[in-house]
Amino acid sequence: MALISCSECGRQISNQAKVCPNCGVPIRLSQVTIEKTSKEVKKMQVMGWVVLMIFVIIGLVAINQNNTVLMGVGSFGIFSVLIYIFYTQIKKWWQHG
Ligand SMILES: [Zn+2]
Repeated sequence: MALISCSECGRQISNQAKVCPNCGVPIRLSQVTIEKTSKEVKKMQVMGWVVLMIFVIIGLVAINQNNTVLMGVGSFGIFSVLIYIFYTQIKKWWQHG
């Protein structure tokens, strides 16, 4: 839960509130949506790091077994996930900017 300021009276109110308890104005949905989206981006990034770890392990196994096919899969996976993490980071900057 975070505090946002009311667009009408400027009072600090919970982002969970549907209307301002002070002036009764409905809370602007966009404010709540930004909060929710940044939380989702964070979740997406955590997932990205987990998948990256899996591909790193695949890569290590491939090197260990000298398996070129698996090495290809591992390096392609790491490359894809890095682009994905980079993309979510850009998205985060975009929202905060
Ligand atoms: Zn208000």
